[in-house]
Amino acid sequence: MPLARFTTLGVGGEAEVWFVESAAQLAEAMEQPYRVLGGGSNLVIADEGVPERVIRLAGPLAERDLTPDPALSSADEIVTGWVGGGVPLPGLIRQLQKLGLSGLEGTVGIPAQVGGAVWMNAGTRYGEMFDGLHTIEIATPQGTVQVTPADLNWGYRDSGIPRNHVVTRVRLKLRQSTPDEVLTKMDFADTARKGQPKMKTPGCAFKNPGGVSAGKLIDEAGLKGTRIGNALIAPEHANFIVNLGGATAADVHALLDVIRERVVVPLELEYELWP
Ligand code: FAD
Repeated sequence: MPLARFTTLGVGGEAEVWFVESAAQLAEAMEQPYRVLGGGSNLVIADEGVPERVIRLAGPLAERDLTPDPALSSADEIVTGWVGGGVPLPGLIRQLQKLGLSGLEGTVGIPAQVGGAVWMNAGTRYGEMFDGLHTIEIATPQGTVQVTPADLNWGYRDSGIPRNHVVTRVRLKLRQSTPDEVLTKMDFADTARKGQPKMKTPGCAFKNPGGVSAGKLIDEAGLKGTRIGNALIAPEHANFIVNLGGATAADVHALLDVIRERVVVPLELEYELWP
């Protein structure tokens, strides 16, 4: 199955995709070399695809139960039922806003799945995933464990969860607010995205070196609007490479090479490259 359809860039060749719906199926899938695919929003997957099987969470592992758990919730804190790692984050954030549940609204606009967003501790300056986590269920090669954030060595864009351990479900820890208040907070994070391109993209290409904007450095190197094949350095924001339609991973890699050659400051890649 081509992986392009599972990525926000719309690029990626063939792999054997396993849609797993239960702990038992996941354990079976993890018996051979594998990769875990979430929302595909931080990946550039090779045109040749990947040799490992690719695991995608589906069925109950992509469902959510936002009902407060009375045994775990208190007057100040609502702890929800289980939210599957395969749940798309944008829809979850919208649903929490409608319920007036506050805690994760700073992550609005991140096109991840819950599992991928937890694994990377995705976030913005307005908040991150670990702001709203109570329990994290993780499938490891040794079996399934349930941990709290305090059990993990998490930090900036890092959950501390080893690669290829699979975040299967989480319980959220939230505060009861009102839909209007949550919406107001979401608007701040949303406004910060106004300059980002709306086309197919895997997000920011490079990390900001030492607090300097990578986009500014790429812009100053005169590279905005550079096109190779059907991949383009976005005119709106130079740290975004977009797919004009029919781009290949090779086009994207060629643009990344041009940026690295022309920007004098060494830049560290933000995306994950498969393979
Ligand atoms: P994928 O891209 O599918 O995978 C990324 C990594 O997570 C892989 O190593 C994969 O194996 C692992 N993974 C996926 N699912 C699981 C799981 N269930 N268990 C364990 N590991 C898993 N990021 C930010 O932090 N802040 C932003 O503001 C932001 N804005 C973005 C805007 C756009 C338009 C785009 C395209 C991306 C943006 N990103 C942002 C990047 C991206 O959304 C995040 O890095 C996100 O955490 C990736 O999650 P994903 O589910 O798409 O994971």
